[in-house]
Amino acid sequence: MSEQVIKKILVANRGEIALRVMRTARRMDIATVAVYSDIDRDAPHVMFANEAIHIGPSPASQSYLIIDKIIGAAKATGADAIHPGYGFLSENSEFAKACTAADIIFIGPSTKAIEVMGSKLAAKEAVKNYDIPMVPGTESALEDATEAITIADSIGYPILIKASAGGGGKGMRVVESAADVEEQMKRAISEAKSAFGDGSVFIEKYITSPRHIEIQILADRHGNVLHLFERECSIQRRHQKVVEEAPSAVLTPELRERMGKAAADVARSCDYEGAGTVEFLLDDDYNFYFLEMNTRLQVEHPVTEMITGLDLVEQQIKVAQGEVLSMKQEDLSITGHAVELRVYAEDPEENFMPSIGNLKVYRAPEGEGVRVDDGFREGMDVPIFYDPMIAKLITYGATRKEAIEKMTKAINDYQIEGIKTTLPFGAFVCKHDAFISGKIDTHFVKKYYTPSLIAEEASISDDEKVAAMIALQAYLDKKEKLTIANASSFNWDGRLGN
Ligand code: ADP
Repeated sequence: MSEQVIKKILVANRGEIALRVMRTARRMDIATVAVYSDIDRDAPHVMFANEAIHIGPSPASQSYLIIDKIIGAAKATGADAIHPGYGFLSENSEFAKACTAADIIFIGPSTKAIEVMGSKLAAKEAVKNYDIPMVPGTESALEDATEAITIADSIGYPILIKASAGGGGKGMRVVESAADVEEQMKRAISEAKSAFGDGSVFIEKYITSPRHIEIQILADRHGNVLHLFERECSIQRRHQKVVEEAPSAVLTPELRERMGKAAADVARSCDYEGAGTVEFLLDDDYNFYFLEMNTRLQVEHPVTEMITGLDLVEQQIKVAQGEVLSMKQEDLSITGHAVELRVYAEDPEENFMPSIGNLKVYRAPEGEGVRVDDGFREGMDVPIFYDPMIAKLITYGATRKEAIEKMTKAINDYQIEGIKTTLPFGAFVCKHDAFISGKIDTHFVKKYYTPSLIAEEASISDDEKVAAMIALQAYLDKKEKLTIANASSFNWDGRLGN
């Protein structure tokens, strides 16, 4: 296949990821087109782009999710490629097909790869020939509760009923005993039908205290598949990630290599091209199991960028242009450590309920080793229509300890008023012994976190602030006296005389 230079990219997304993609495009001298709904008329991604096209009312189902409108906007502006970001249409194979039909490059994998990996059951089937470790469970959709009970008995409880088309932590039910299978299965099927339009469910063994480890993949059209090491995303609420890091605190080079190879094989099983992520669970004994593959750029991709020095969007664009990957596996190495906190408009004291409103004060932290990917400005409203993530705070240090310390400081420097955010939760995590020592699993929140701890923390730190101010005042008073008393031992310019 021949190479095609991309001159103009339409970004079919909004918020931080739209801006993040456009920044790289601009650096590569590629023109950018934004699309926007009613409420996003003045949003930062619209201001940043070279051109912007209005695509409809605020609800995503009437704007960002309408294939024809996005394709129409690309045609109207002469964009030769579309970057879907994450969420919205990024894993919609019909959208990828529509791009190709309109002679527009879809910056992502083939339609086939999206289809196979979009179904957890089809994905399990596809990787069968590659000796990838899987969580024990069923290989096809289940409808009959009696059959489900027989299978559950053979794998042992607890089990997890999962929606094949599931995503975002939705459509999962833990079942502790045979008596609950029928009821939970009925609920899972109806939930899956209404959320994903596909009621297929299957059973997996519930791994009791797993870590979530995922491997970043990069593949070109010429058969080259690389892995860019792992990210650990074990700090989750509602099976959704909040804090991520790279590398993981516990992977040995040997395990990293084995998981990297398995991930590359998963990518090969669907002729993957571009950037993708293969997710695994790691159990107590460091056995890993394939969970699923995400066929897009992940929210947490920056931590990988920090430790590898690569720009993943640039790599995606190059692959989409038909280029050969310019590096080999042996050229890649991990330098330093990166941590990411997803700053959600949620109240960590109220069970992470969405907290929408106006960003009365919004000031992001800056500094060496601090990266903020955001899509908001002070004074903007956080709309109810979309994902409640307002920013990603990423810190980088030579060691894990340094990255965590920088995160604590950056959280402290982040000023957001008007809405509640996950910033105090991030501070809680960074102070917690389990996180600091790396002894975490996906139940961190359930095990250690109670909202009152944040409230306590806040009041303690207020007390501490008062105490510190009193101490500082006392010190300053004393210092003045001491300075006067010791004045004779100083030279006139204040340096110690001797
Ligand atoms: P989704 O597509 O909804 O993100 P995943 O299959 O990727 O679903 O799983 C999301 C999270 O759910 C995992 O990170 C983990 O916390 C939990 N999970 C999924 N499968 C299992 C399992 N078999 N045992 C224990 N936890 C699981």
